[in-house]
Amino acid sequence: MKVLVVNAGSSSLKYQLFDMDTEDVIAKGNAERIGIEGSFLKHKANGVETILEKSLSNHADAIKLILETLTDAQIGVIKDITEIDAIGHRVVHGGEHYTKPTLVDEKVISDLRGLVDFAPLHAIPNTDGIIGCVNVAPQIPNVTVFDTAFHSTMPKYAYMYGIPMKYYRDYAVRRYGAHGTSHKFVGQKLAEYAGIDFQNSKIITCHIGNGSSITAIKNGECIDTSMGFTPLEGLIMGTRSGDIDANVIQFLCKKTGYDVNKVTEILNKESGLLGITEKSSDMRDICEMYEKKEPQAVLALEMLAYRIKKYIGSYVAALDGVDAICFTAGIGENTPELREMVLTGLTYLGIDFDRDANYSILRGEDGLITTKNSKVPIYKICTDEELAIARETVEVVSNLKK
Ligand code: AMP
Repeated sequence: MKVLVVNAGSSSLKYQLFDMDTEDVIAKGNAERIGIEGSFLKHKANGVETILEKSLSNHADAIKLILETLTDAQIGVIKDITEIDAIGHRVVHGGEHYTKPTLVDEKVISDLRGLVDFAPLHAIPNTDGIIGCVNVAPQIPNVTVFDTAFHSTMPKYAYMYGIPMKYYRDYAVRRYGAHGTSHKFVGQKLAEYAGIDFQNSKIITCHIGNGSSITAIKNGECIDTSMGFTPLEGLIMGTRSGDIDANVIQFLCKKTGYDVNKVTEILNKESGLLGITEKSSDMRDICEMYEKKEPQAVLALEMLAYRIKKYIGSYVAALDGVDAICFTAGIGENTPELREMVLTGLTYLGIDFDRDANYSILRGEDGLITTKNSKVPIYKICTDEELAIARETVEVVSNLKK
């Protein structure tokens, strides 16, 4: 079975075509600058990367070009689009209703449009990507895989905010979380790797990337997660502040003369690692600055490590213990310095950090970063959100055929 996974951002659209019999990636790429002058498609197949410059005025144009490229006689990998059995879409927010991967129909599309306020940056491109696929290849089933779905099992006391109930009743204001597809994927992978039964375990997954979140998983289900109503809450991220006293917003409005939209933009786009270092949101740059002992980079890493440590501690309490912990995503997988800063201060948990292992596990490989004496094993586990989406898509489509 061949599955195309689509991840539509505001001006980009990433894709991967999987052969799900082997779970191999047959082709992948990214349509960039959609709706902006200078748009192009970067396509990679059989080890060759091709750049196709073409005007892409919307996401439907991008999908059309991607399907043409996949079936191109020279650089394509399939003869006809009918070889694609299903398309899986990453959807950032499913609201309260969409708690499982769902086959797309007209109602799903209209419901997704109604969720725009929950994820203003993502909901419109996500929906446009789906509509593009439906229009260009109506015969292929489309499946939405929601970033929020895995978190739908949180108990009410974990997902409610301490604000008047009417805002939950009237507007569904509550914690939803994000990165759910990744947390579930690495949680299962971690359990398998550590020889633990996922359905009978206490696991903490730390997805640390440009956006970051930590999830507490009990017996295979999410019981709490650090992102909230939107992906702004929780850890310090590339450009997002994470947890903050909400009164700061009003205070900054008063002091700067900015309106609430501008301050919200600052919290989302100019804060976090970028705000603290005043130079970069990218961990590779920050690590270089850290090596040179630049004080603001040192502070940014210390702040991030400290907050990860606080969340791990609080989730150990929420889970009433922990069997295993893992680090994943761009930073979690590739920044041993940060893992060391987090783990050296967790001796109360009986964690015995293995410094050599932490620094020697190769990029793209999973591994244990604590010693055999450690009461709680800690792992680096590589995530693969696209593969996770492809697997969920296969499950929905296979059920259709039953
Ligand atoms: P993600 O959102 O998961 O793609 O992660 C993006 C973050 O991972 C960025 O801050 C990157 O700088 C960081 N990252 C990716 N590769 C590396 C690396 N080799 N070393 C340090 N950070 C990395």
